[in-house]
Amino acid sequence: MEKLIKKCMNLCQEEEFIFGEGSRKAKIMLIGEAPGENEIKKKRPFVGKAGKNLDELLSILEINRAEIYITNSVKIRPYKISEKTGRKINRSPNKEEINKFREIIIGEIEYVQPKIIVTLGNIPLNQITEKNIKIGDCHGKLMKINISEKEYKIFPLYHPASIIYNRKLKDVYIEDIIILKEIIKKY
Ligand code: URA
Repeated sequence: MEKLIKKCMNLCQEEEFIFGEGSRKAKIMLIGEAPGENEIKKKRPFVGKAGKNLDELLSILEINRAEIYITNSVKIRPYKISEKTGRKINRSPNKEEINKFREIIIGEIEYVQPKIIVTLGNIPLNQITEKNIKIGDCHGKLMKINISEKEYKIFPLYHPASIIYNRKLKDVYIEDIIILKEIIKKY
């Protein structure tokens, strides 16, 4: 893992980066998009509002944060400057950033060898699979992928931040988590 962190450091150069955290023995690896302002401040993935969303997901699954490995597709904070305030605001990672960090996420998967990879939203799903799949077409269904001749299972979920204002999608998201809970019981 140290080698991978060094590789990440080289990719990020001077920029602050947030690496994944959790147990090497984790059965579940959860992949989000990228750190935001809060994550950079606290130097951890999924804190603040994103941490609350994660807690809700984990409480339905009845598992603890310490039991899983949590990381992001992109390890630096993608931002733009707000025209109104002149301050940095979060934005979605772009293609270049997503491609740049693919080798790191693949390295993390090879290191943890999780039984199930849970991707949040389009970005981690398409980063790993190198496809252009829409989360609306594949959420809540197990997918398979080969990495270094080993087969991994991916369970795509909507990104919790993307469904907050959509009651129907929120219901679908919860239903998907309940499906995931049943799958996890087998491992
Ligand atoms: N914070 C993270 O660490 N990842 C996300 O995808 C969103 C917020």
